[in-house]
Amino acid sequence: MIAPKIKGRRLTALSMYSRLVMGGSASSADFVFLGGDVSLDLVNTTIVLNGRFTDLLTTPQRLSEWIAAAGLAPSASARLGTDLHGRVIELREAIRSACTALIDGAAIPGEALDVLNEALRSVPVPELRQDDGTLTLEPRVDLDRDPETLLGILAQHAAEVVSGDRADRLRRCDNHDTCTLLFMDTSRSRSRRWCSMELCGNRHKVAAHHARAVSNRIRR
Ligand SMILES: [Zn+2]
Repeated sequence: MIAPKIKGRRLTALSMYSRLVMGGSASSADFVFLGGDVSLDLVNTTIVLNGRFTDLLTTPQRLSEWIAAAGLAPSASARLGTDLHGRVIELREAIRSACTALIDGAAIPGEALDVLNEALRSVPVPELRQDDGTLTLEPRVDLDRDPETLLGILAQHAAEVVSGDRADRLRRCDNHDTCTLLFMDTSRSRSRRWCSMELCGNRHKVAAHHARAVSNRIRR
């Protein structure tokens, strides 16, 4: 199967998230794209914000905005009904369930597999394209005409994350107390601990430095 190439606005989204974590309010562009796979970026649309679990995809409009920000469609014009929105949220939770099971070394729950397999039925069919004399086989993605393919694209990416040869690179951010983000560890040493240095890595460094300073003061 051929997964469509995704172009996300990773750095912009990251700075948006930093602003959110600092205490701003959720708006159209406040999504994070640091999962290394669009299915993990979907899972990461629920975040812990000021100590509260926050869903960034509460409406079909928000989902349209996320689709555009994730590079799945050129604009936020995809017509999405409440039914499809509900199914994307259901798929998101199934992907989360599958990924966390894998990270914890457990079997993927049957209900999560059922939701993923149902969505896999909507994988877009491929078509031949000819550009500048080069012939390529690409998925036929038209979210305006056939919004169901969205479920197929996301499920296909998730299936490749949990069953492909990158499955052992799936990680949960080490900052368990205030971060729920998932990502693919693509570092050569396979030692990435944080969703990002900017967010949780530096927070950890500052906390560790503070703890060392306090214990030094106590010892003196
Ligand atoms: Zn984190």
